[in-house]
Amino acid sequence: MDFKQYITIVEDYPKEGIRFKDITTLMQDGQAYKKAIEELANFAREKNADVIVGPEARGFVVGCPIAFELEKGFVPVRKKGKLPREVISVDYGLEYGNDSLTIHKDAIQKGQRVVIADDLLATGGTIEATINMVEQLGGEVVGIAFLIELTYLDGRDKLQDYDVYTLTQY
Ligand code: IMP
Repeated sequence: MDFKQYITIVEDYPKEGIRFKDITTLMQDGQAYKKAIEELANFAREKNADVIVGPEARGFVVGCPIAFELEKGFVPVRKKGKLPREVISVDYGLEYGNDSLTIHKDAIQKGQRVVIADDLLATGGTIEATINMVEQLGGEVVGIAFLIELTYLDGRDKLQDYDVYTLTQY
């Protein structure tokens, strides 16, 4: 399936010069959304994932249905202040300034095989921070799955030690 035909490019959003890849039009199409998730779920299955981890919010849209398909658990990564129990956190760089991501301290067991899922690989900063937390908890990141890769931002350079799978590239 050509997933690009379901992704809408929005010019100058959220600011001038950015060509935003809007996946809501893919999600709105039941067949396309299902096919996309099935392909990513096959990747996670081949990796023998024990658990799927996804950063908010679009990582939930991608990661939760993969977990459901494989009958595995899903672990959310959230911005600081959103998870109710004890967390570990990592600071990560954004275009302007820094932010923190958090994960529940008891969410990953030592030695668990983890596949991380998100909608889009840009600079890789979000996923690098997510990997860092999973590994601090003793998880093994066996794969990383995205709907979209922006190859011109070289996010893969940060993820050289990992098996990265993307459905479509720009
Ligand atoms: P990174 O940390 O630079 O790789 O940025 C990835 C995060 O930014 C993902 O979680 C995306 O949700 C978001 N993002 C960046 N650019 C776009 C875009 O064009 N469309 C949708 N999300 C984007």
